[in-house]
Amino acid sequence: MTRSHLTRLSWRLFAALLMAGTAWASAVPPDTVMVFEGARLITGTNTPPIENAVFVVTNGMITGVGKQGVLTFPAGAVRVNLTGKTVMPALVDDHVHMGYRKGSSFSADNYTRGNLLDILDRFAFFGVAAILETGTGRGDLPFTIRPEALQGARYLTTGSGFAMPDAGPGGPMRDSIYGVTTETQARQYVRELAAHQPDMVKIWVDDRNGRVEKLKPALYRAIIDEAHRHHLKVMAHIVNLADVKDLLRAGVDGFAHMVRDQEVDDELLQLLKAHPNVFFLETLWGERRSIYTSPPAWLEDPMLRDVYTAADLKELADQFQPDPAVTPQALARTRAMAQMSLHNTALLEAAGVQLGLGTDTGGMNGGQFFGLGTHVEMELLVKRAGLTPMQALLIGTRNSAAILGLDQLGTLVPGKSADFIVLDANPLDDIANTRRISRVYLRGEEIPRNTLKARWAAQGN
Ligand SMILES: [Zn+2]
Repeated sequence: MTRSHLTRLSWRLFAALLMAGTAWASAVPPDTVMVFEGARLITGTNTPPIENAVFVVTNGMITGVGKQGVLTFPAGAVRVNLTGKTVMPALVDDHVHMGYRKGSSFSADNYTRGNLLDILDRFAFFGVAAILETGTGRGDLPFTIRPEALQGARYLTTGSGFAMPDAGPGGPMRDSIYGVTTETQARQYVRELAAHQPDMVKIWVDDRNGRVEKLKPALYRAIIDEAHRHHLKVMAHIVNLADVKDLLRAGVDGFAHMVRDQEVDDELLQLLKAHPNVFFLETLWGERRSIYTSPPAWLEDPMLRDVYTAADLKELADQFQPDPAVTPQALARTRAMAQMSLHNTALLEAAGVQLGLGTDTGGMNGGQFFGLGTHVEMELLVKRAGLTPMQALLIGTRNSAAILGLDQLGTLVPGKSADFIVLDANPLDDIANTRRISRVYLRGEEIPRNTLKARWAAQGN
């Protein structure tokens, strides 16, 4: 729908469209030159922020970046005063499970066009410019929606992932994958998937603590080889160091989750040096219940009440209360694995390994907290894994965009898409400030956050 169409619509019809989650209007024609003045600008290029910055946006693209009083811009530009604010690149979340979660409901019945687009809006509300659906797409729907998703977060998808039959993701996501038993079949399924041009291929290499059969090395070798023949990267869900090493030898391109069974060793670091493009998506949000031993302060963020129902918030808060169904031994085990995730994240970052941001939001442990998880992931990187705020920001922006091949995202320099978050406070002082969001712009257009809030409030969120 074009803007001229929208201006002809009555406000009532327009409001109805908004309620349906399908359209919103921009107040600014696309060819207007916009000049954003006075903010502290974090460009995402690992350089110190520019104080009193000016940046210019034309047709959704950044066309100039500089200092106030130095950078020139055309007369007649629309000027936006951001004095006192901090601007950072929009985030990218490379490990998401779309469609199954809708409030406290977790079901394949929720996997609809409307819910997928609503989740993309939820990510946009939080300043997430793109997400990768990892392995739990259902049928062709992700591929038909992907090109239509032009307003919220960009939708990238691996479609269906690969595991042994009935041995992939849990709960209602279990039947979404290709269950494979022979190399011929594995290759055939990869070819079938490749016809849809997925943004990556996802495999699960995990026996779920002995409960399911782990994907056999001969099968993942066939999947990786066939995917590479189709110029597709392969990402593996993993737990164990031994599996990570063998997958690296098999040519895998990256990992969802961190090594969780033991400390990474020199042999792994040597293997990673030989494969410098391999990435790890740390996925700490998914382990939040094992990381926090008391309720985290971010439960009190006012923004949470803007987007989640009281029932959602109670569910979230309850996750940090002792669970009588979990034995002390099981609790000790998951806590130890979570601590190993944090420790290994720090070791791999120090070794210069490419880390990207992944949360598992929407999955078994990720819950329905799309967007929030992406921000808390960065807080965990800083306050639990010990990274600097700048390291965490680079992981959540530049690195995660690069892993997905999204050349237009992740940094705020001329030639990139104008996807940025305006913050009320500096995240380099406290990474929790990434959640003090004043405005979000994706593709050069302001996300109508108040309209989205009203839509979710009217729906009972
Ligand atoms: Zn996952």
